Amino acid sequence: MTFDIKNKKIIITGGCGFIGSEFIRTIIKKNKNISILNIDNLTYASNNSLEYLKKNKFYKFKKININNYKKLSIAFFEFKPDLLINFAAESHVDNSIKSSKKFINTNIFGVYNLLEISRKYIEKKNKKKFLFLQISTDEVYGDIINKKSSKETDNVIPSSPYSATKAAAENLVVAWSRTYKMPYIITNSSNNYGPFQNKEKLIPTVINNILNNKKIPIYGDGKQQRNWIHVSDNINAILTILQKGKLNNKYNIGSANLLTNLNLIKLIFKYIKINNLIESKIKFKDVINYVEDRKGHDIKYDLNISKLKNLNWKPNISIHDGLKDTINWHINKK
Ligand code: NAD
Repeated sequence: MTFDIKNKKIIITGGCGFIGSEFIRTIIKKNKNISILNIDNLTYASNNSLEYLKKNKFYKFKKININNYKKLSIAFFEFKPDLLINFAAESHVDNSIKSSKKFINTNIFGVYNLLEISRKYIEKKNKKKFLFLQISTDEVYGDIINKKSSKETDNVIPSSPYSATKAAAENLVVAWSRTYKMPYIITNSSNNYGPFQNKEKLIPTVINNILNNKKIPIYGDGKQQRNWIHVSDNINAILTILQKGKLNNKYNIGSANLLTNLNLIKLIFKYIKINNLIESKIKFKDVINYVEDRKGHDIKYDLNISKLKNLNWKPNISIHDGLKDTINWHINKK
């Protein structure tokens, strides 16, 4: 067992975001004796899905910006965590292309603060078993036009300001481990989808635009390929890695769902159409609008997940069931 979360104190940064909130909902349901401190500064990307935990004695929330070293450090030393999971990030590539400063601040300087506080905490409290889990992305490997998939041992060659900041954060984590002996794990997951994802992201945009009779902007020719994983499969993978993975290692998390953006949009359109959620006369060509490609747009990301499969993990949710669940969530939240 690498890290048993039972009876542990866990700081989760970015726990009000899409993936972090799913992680908290899942572990609160599964484990009665863990204690969570969720640190989030509630940016536009946060959601209020954890309101129901307000009175739960195992859950605490503090509104802190991870760029605020002092407040972060006080919260950290007061709570005395066994594990830190960093989900906090500016996460939207398009925003990073328009204005990258916030990305540099949160995704690099924020991680630097978390690492420095963790280092001082380990030293002062002589905390041998502390673990730093950094949530990263497949985008750090950059475009893989001439390759089947990316392995954990591949170089990071990011293309966008967003992925460059995530790659920088990974390098900091690895350096803090080597220099200060801080135990870490990094997870590199592919594109997540599911309930509570912010409306700016591809799948929520596609669903909402089709339902609201608005055209879907498609970058370039729409043939970019992405690997899609349901957020709950990502959470189960993270929990498997905590339990059975090796310390000071990176783990790719992905699925078998490699789709072009165009084919993904077709699948969503088909589901909405056969369930009579839009007028029957509306055709696929009526809902799409090809627009100028994203600057520096990577053509393909895909992950080799054999290291994770060796831990006996496999995704449980098919793309069809996952999309159905996500579309229904968008319909019901209205
Ligand atoms: P998200 O944008 O939905 O949520 C990010 C959360 O972090 C929000 O609650 C926000 O308020 C918080 N946050 C942002 N800046 C902060 C700051 N300075 N201080 C404190 N909190 C701050 O992101 P997500 O989609 O849930 O992604 C979570 C993590 O997973 C990110 O690190 C992201 O890079 C990574 N990731 C996401 C995907 C994906 O498809 N969504 C894929 C791979 C990796």
